[in-house]
Amino acid sequence: MTGDGHTLRGVGATPLAGVGTAVRYDPDADLTPPDPPDPETVDEARERERFETARDHAREALEAQRAETAARVGEDEAAIFDAHLQFLDDPQVEDGVAGHLADGLPAEHAVDRAFGEAIAQFEDAGGLMAERTDDLREVRNRLLRRLLDVAAVDLSALPAGSVVVAERLGPADTAQLDPERVAGFVTATGGRTSHAAIMARSLGIPAVVGVDGLEAVEDGDELVVDGDAGEVVVDPSPERRERARETGTGAEVRHEPVTTADGRAVEVAANIGTAAEAAGAREQGADGVGLFRTEFLFLERDSPPSEDEQYEAVVDVLEAFDGDRVVVRTLDVGGDKPVPYLDTEEGSNPFLGVRGVRLAPGERPDLFETQLRALLRAAATDAGDGLAVMFPLVATVEELDGVLDRVQAVAGALDEAGIAYRIPELGVMVETPAAAFVAGDLAERVDFLSTGTNDLTQYVMAANREDERVADLHDPLHPGVLRAIDRTVTAAHEAGAWVGMCGEMAGDPDLTGLLVGLGLDELSMSAVTVPAVKERVTGVDTDEARALAERALAAETREAVLEVLGNGR
Ligand code: PEP
Ligand code: MG
Repeated sequence: MTGDGHTLRGVGATPLAGVGTAVRYDPDADLTPPDPPDPETVDEARERERFETARDHAREALEAQRAETAARVGEDEAAIFDAHLQFLDDPQVEDGVAGHLADGLPAEHAVDRAFGEAIAQFEDAGGLMAERTDDLREVRNRLLRRLLDVAAVDLSALPAGSVVVAERLGPADTAQLDPERVAGFVTATGGRTSHAAIMARSLGIPAVVGVDGLEAVEDGDELVVDGDAGEVVVDPSPERRERARETGTGAEVRHEPVTTADGRAVEVAANIGTAAEAAGAREQGADGVGLFRTEFLFLERDSPPSEDEQYEAVVDVLEAFDGDRVVVRTLDVGGDKPVPYLDTEEGSNPFLGVRGVRLAPGERPDLFETQLRALLRAAATDAGDGLAVMFPLVATVEELDGVLDRVQAVAGALDEAGIAYRIPELGVMVETPAAAFVAGDLAERVDFLSTGTNDLTQYVMAANREDERVADLHDPLHPGVLRAIDRTVTAAHEAGAWVGMCGEMAGDPDLTGLLVGLGLDELSMSAVTVPAVKERVTGVDTDEARALAERALAAETREAVLEVLGNGR
């Protein structure tokens, strides 16, 4: 394709820009089964066995990829593969395959047709359901590759500076991309919440999805991928190329704290899972850490980390942030984050069972105590001034009172033993509807609240955050969730506590005005979105943002909220 600076528009998935050379990738290449043979000649039992073998193989591969993604990218992103495992065993697809096998089709045709039918149904449903068809296709392709003996393209081995151009990319494809090598990716399908987009944000890869006119881009075309503007520039001018190269991100990295245009301070912090991520978060200009998910210290091992190990990990992060605030969340396992060696009963509904503070201190006060000792000691170090500690999945005042008693008890024990300690700022995550309703009572007991909108949305909407079939309900822009957030912010401020947000919602630059208008004092997100959110904060007028929030809070439907926002969300 020729033309100087021809621009294609789509949806920016990552607020990053990259420059590189187009490499077209077709995940469906060579996966169309040849014409089926005469049904009389097909051995149904043998074909069923071939299907079962392919499915076992796919399950193993998915489980391995899940574990690798958890280690390399993060637990939330790894959970995407749970959706694939669900599709692999979906009863409707299974019935479809069985029906086609009974009609005398070979396994590859039965798979192709049964998945084709499910994909058509999801497409008809439209909206966020339609975004999930990429996942169904990826599962189908895994099975077909095995049945047709077609090797998968190795995306991790692309030449440096490649921009992957595809009709669509699934999370397994995206997880293979090496952020150090690829310059970005662009897809014709997908939206901001598609799995490829979520994965791109976590990996820090420039990406634009849902691009119109992508079929005209050819292998070897030079491209700018501007994930901030949602643009793909074909044959970019030298100036455009330079601009993307220079900044690397669509937004300037600001290392100083920012205020709104009329001077209100809003802290923009990063979510991290390991101490190693702290330096990268600092480079993106994060003012601090709004959520350190300490459960990662407990995963991928056979026994819990020692007090000293935990102390060192926290001190490393505190030192990287040099006195700026670092909010450490106490152990949040259970539910979607089981830790096998803790040997806890999953229960019939793990999301409503023993997780967060119900597990620690709840069932395992020993684990909680060890972690608190590490935290109170870390608070007394040179860099410890910035430490804040918050507790996950609190639903009652009694739970919080119990937790606070334990903090005092641990402090007393350290005191008696002559070990240096300090009680840091303490806070509560608002992740349950109950916590939102009693936010004022909770806030009176602590220094701050932090709204965990991933779980808050799940529980307010009764929509499992991992179940693709209810993905359109799992959106914090539903009025029920927005009003729960509003209630939380108001109650916290009335009680004299500050209030932040550390769910995915906080990192969407298109929602920054709304969140500032709701009164949040701090927003914490994947480090890669920090520059774009800081930039948006600087453009906000507080009065206008409050008026926008009022209109959004008065809206009766998610559609009406989107209309109020009117900014491409
Ligand atoms: C949340 O629930 O919004 C949150 C930040 O916690 P996690 O995603 O780790 O459950
Ligand atoms: Mg949570």
